Amino acid sequence: PEDIRVYEFADKVRQPLSEVIKILFNLGMMVTKNDFLGKDEIEILASEFGVEVTTIDPKDAFNYEDSYEEDNEDSADLEERPPVITIMGHVDHGKTSLLDAIRNAKVAHGEAGGITQHIGAYSVEQHGKLITFLDTPGHEAFSSMRARGAQLTDIIVIVVAADDGVKPQTRESVKHAQEAKVPVIVAINKMDKPGANPDMVKAQMAELGLNPVDWGGDVEFVGVSAKAMTGIDELLEAILLQAEIMELKANPNNMAKAVVVESTLEKGRGPVATVIVQNGTLKIGDNIVCGSAYGRVRALISDRKAQLQKIGPSETAVVVGLSDVPPSGEILMVMESDKEAREFAQKRYEYDRHRELSHSTKTTLDELSSLI
Ligand code: GDP
Ligand code: MG
Repeated sequence: PEDIRVYEFADKVRQPLSEVIKILFNLGMMVTKNDFLGKDEIEILASEFGVEVTTIDPKDAFNYEDSYEEDNEDSADLEERPPVITIMGHVDHGKTSLLDAIRNAKVAHGEAGGITQHIGAYSVEQHGKLITFLDTPGHEAFSSMRARGAQLTDIIVIVVAADDGVKPQTRESVKHAQEAKVPVIVAINKMDKPGANPDMVKAQMAELGLNPVDWGGDVEFVGVSAKAMTGIDELLEAILLQAEIMELKANPNNMAKAVVVESTLEKGRGPVATVIVQNGTLKIGDNIVCGSAYGRVRALISDRKAQLQKIGPSETAVVVGLSDVPPSGEILMVMESDKEAREFAQKRYEYDRHRELSHSTKTTLDELSSLI
């Protein structure tokens, strides 16, 4: 792995650059100051200069996520949790309209009406059960989470316009779902249109390996109209059915671990981040770390602007109280103490800075401490 440049190394060990280049030259290696050093070269140089070198793998470097204890969780502590849904599909097939239609048709937590704000995720209630929808443009959080190998989405709803059928981005969505091994429900949208042809959509999707239940397959297809607000209940039922099969569980009594789906700097409030809780319960007053940001939960605000005291697994809210704006896809975790949260944030900050310096996503050189 090559990840630290010659001049950076010289800098770290406080030796003249020319000296570093000379040693490598004498070993038959022609390098310039901007070349990267491999692990072997670093070890040779380190012994020449009498310095101690530690190489770290970024996979286990300052990932406070790893300190999260859920693997040894007693299965008796686990409780059913709501599903988290991502809507995907071709442009103009009605993703935004459908998300709006679902949100307007249903009200979560029994709050009537109310002015809603777009916060990147929302929950609706169907027969007393919650369903959380990711509502981020471009599904940023979805892709950044996937890039990190974590999974936030339980079910993907692929929207296909009944009058347009499968298009390039439909195929891409199917590929995404298959690669991520996330079950799919197909919403055949724009059923109100005269040219609506649901059988065409079913046939085209079947060709991609998504066989409709009513054709003997295992994928639910639901006809909807985001415009006429029809089929919404049926779609939500299909989601709950799929979720039931998946037996989604979490421990609401654990300390919270959540994912950032959207974030911004708000006038008056400072950094705010919309999160979806993956496990545990996030409460007012909790000490939190989120990447290189840290803080204490000062407020939890719902998409209906309600002030919440806590949010449990798969639930979502805007978190107020972070020191900085975290990127979407970042993990937010509750820490035992304020001190611990600060320390983790500081370590992540230093780590990120070093990664920027070394322009590498692979192995990173951590501490080079001079022995003298
Ligand atoms: P997105 O690009 O997938 O987010 O699609 P939009 O939600 O922005 O919708 C694209 C266009 O299709 C807009 O003009 C919508 O008004 C229209 N549209 C969305 N859903 C329906 C529907 O169920 N019926 C009809 N007739 N038009 C719809
Ligand atoms: Mg849209």
